[in-house]
Amino acid sequence: MKLQKTVKAVKKKYGIDVVAREDDRSIFLSGECNSWDTVVAIGKEFVTEGKHVVNDIRLAGYQPKPERLPLLKDDKLEGTSWDVVVIGGGISGCSVARELTRYNISVLLVEKHSDVARGASGANDGMVHAGIDLKHKCLKLKYGVAGNALYADVCRELGVDFRRSGQYVVFDSRLVTLLARSTVKRSRKHGISGVRTVGKREICTAEPCVKDFAKGALYAPSTGVVSPYQLTVAYAENAVQNGATVSLDTAVLSMERRDDRIVNIVTNRGSFSARCVVNCAGVFADKIAQMASDRYFSIHPRKGTDLLLDPKADGLPNGNISMGPSVKSSHEHTNTKGGGVIRTVDGNYLLGPDAVETPEREDVGTEKSSVDGVFAKQSRVCPSLSKGSVIAYFAGVRAPTYEEDFLIERSSKVRNLVHVAGIQSPGLTAAPAFSKDVAQMVKECLEESGDMVELNDSFDPVRPKPVRAKNLTDSHRDELIKQDPDYGKIVCRCEEISLGEIKQAIRNPLGVHTIDGVKRRVRAGMGRCQGGFCMPIITRVIAEELGIDPSEVTKDDGGSNIAVGRIKEI
Ligand SMILES: Cc1cc2nc3c(=O)[nH]c(=O)nc-3n(C[C@H](O)[C@H](O)[C@H](O)COP(=O)(O)OP(=O)(O)OC[C@H]3O[C@@H](n4cnc5c(N)ncnc54)[C@H](O)[C@@H]3O)c2cc1C
Repeated sequence: MKLQKTVKAVKKKYGIDVVAREDDRSIFLSGECNSWDTVVAIGKEFVTEGKHVVNDIRLAGYQPKPERLPLLKDDKLEGTSWDVVVIGGGISGCSVARELTRYNISVLLVEKHSDVARGASGANDGMVHAGIDLKHKCLKLKYGVAGNALYADVCRELGVDFRRSGQYVVFDSRLVTLLARSTVKRSRKHGISGVRTVGKREICTAEPCVKDFAKGALYAPSTGVVSPYQLTVAYAENAVQNGATVSLDTAVLSMERRDDRIVNIVTNRGSFSARCVVNCAGVFADKIAQMASDRYFSIHPRKGTDLLLDPKADGLPNGNISMGPSVKSSHEHTNTKGGGVIRTVDGNYLLGPDAVETPEREDVGTEKSSVDGVFAKQSRVCPSLSKGSVIAYFAGVRAPTYEEDFLIERSSKVRNLVHVAGIQSPGLTAAPAFSKDVAQMVKECLEESGDMVELNDSFDPVRPKPVRAKNLTDSHRDELIKQDPDYGKIVCRCEEISLGEIKQAIRNPLGVHTIDGVKRRVRAGMGRCQGGFCMPIITRVIAEELGIDPSEVTKDDGGSNIAVGRIKEI
């Protein structure tokens, strides 16, 4: 009855005929309309407590681009059987795989790209959010706050830099600063410590760039910054160190179900079985659910663009800072945190992101409208910043459900399937916490189907921290160079990365041998020149290390060779 009322209301508001039906878990929508924003808006109209929305309303005349799949085909995994398979090598999949290696079980992680951290986990802001924006009880709040609290320990164990640098949300009105006291109260209730409002004097002393307009601010000291791709890599490496297998260039293509269990998983590298399947496929999580005939939620991709700034630019803040709402907009509801200026853990600055609904799950191209919009919006907190200080852009795609919350649960219809879906922001923040609960869900699932799951006595939570020559004292660096002169040869001048570090990155435990793989591990190519100087050298070093011709070296996934052959000898 209520459903048909919403159908009528939608017809009145948007002029669209929607067919809606429901079962015990979901509301299923079909129909057609002319704008993607309207498809998403209609999906949201049907959100109701206790049910998920599966939105199959088509965008008229639109043909989705084919999914990117690996070129590789072999039978590496054919006929194998595993206790658990984790699908997706983002922060969700890699943290879950690592937590699973605390048990004596066989764990396989499959990732369709040639490296981990290729989805949203490799293209986000790297903020470990405090959670002050989350208003209602939801999994984003539960795991965001718990994850934030675990960060210092997790990063210490995994040898990844983390800085709890805090965040100012700046207001240009005293009234909004007063209204922000309700956020302080709510944060306290949610267990987020130290949040307070600050006056004009404090914010202008901490961040002089806002002195012309700031009337006050909200300060969240528990906000931190981390390198999202280095943390994802570190989780994956620690999982491998503890016995997990990571199979890259491996896409799950279909699944076979018998009664209420998945019995066979088909990939481009052979078919295999697993006693439990964990779906961490990001923007493809609903497609994976569909492969298991368990589609009861939809992902509507939401793209975010970030601008990378030259750290030497004038007018930058000292830390993380964002513009708070004005009096007019302070009651408006949004599904994003609004972005800001972020001082990354590596000392660079990011401006962004924005939030654009898109039917394309893998389109990470950057649009001029987004670049201009992000600069115009976010540079308000540092007005003397010029566009010339932007050195690169990138985009990532968030994976929200229509309910705008994480969906982390065992399927109620497929007994050996766990969904880790809808992992939009603050997914990076939350992963250290939810990965522990997911490992528990997997343990329960395995124990239901047979033997007790024992602890892995040899589990080692510590992943050795890679050497960063530029961070060593002069005497330590001299010592290192004496042991291995390659640490004295600088290859990436912008980021000051030595040949020794490049070789160390190429010899990584996941067996990633691409230019971008080196970049994700040691930042070579992430500075002002964006790899213009060091890329040919890194290509040569990879070729030498692997004993292959430079023309066989790829930038990233198979087929992205950066040279076609030799044109002359120097
Ligand atoms: C612009 C932007 C900024 C953000 N900023 C922050 C932030 O500052 N702080 C924060 O906490 N969060 C942030 N987030 C959110 C955060 O990035 C995500 O919540 C998180 O990275 C999601 O991780 P994931 O592992 O679930 O998904 P992903 O990282 O997308 O990983 C999913 C993986 O599954 C693989 N896959 C898909 N289908 C298959 C298949 N069939 N077979 C095999 N593999 C498959 C994909 O290739 C991909 O690697 C941001 C997101 C965006 C887009």
